[in-house]
Amino acid sequence: MSDLRDLYQQVILDHYRAPRNFGPLEPVSACAEGYNPLCGDKVKVYLRTDGERIEGLTFEGVGCAISTASASLMTEAVRGLERSEAEALLASFLALMTGDGEAANGVPLGKLEVLSGVKDYPVRIKCATLAWHALRAALEGGDAEAVSTE
Ligand code: ZN
Repeated sequence: MSDLRDLYQQVILDHYRAPRNFGPLEPVSACAEGYNPLCGDKVKVYLRTDGERIEGLTFEGVGCAISTASASLMTEAVRGLERSEAEALLASFLALMTGDGEAANGVPLGKLEVLSGVKDYPVRIKCATLAWHALRAALEGGDAEAVSTE
């Protein structure tokens, strides 16, 4: 188990040090910002859709290792999905984080499993879910107001 934890830790650090899909997206269909005042994490998600397909997804922001790694892993996992698939993945990920078995829908999380250890640290759950809440806001049309975890 500790080997697995080490591996998970390495993936998180790797995505923190070299975030994937980092930076604004042009052209963009919708964007949304999230802020986690507990930790000071800020993330802005840029979404480009082509019909129902998520053609592009990037992010930028500043935050702790967990929030940055989660946003980076999210962009990799969600790019290329249909909107409905992205929504199912989002629900599945949030269920993992909150330990809510009811909401778990059996959608495989793949690499996102590396964040599963976070649920043992309630304070960090908001770091891990921040980008995902911003993604949800962007999928719903985005902008207007920043999403806050509070
Ligand atoms: Zn954080």
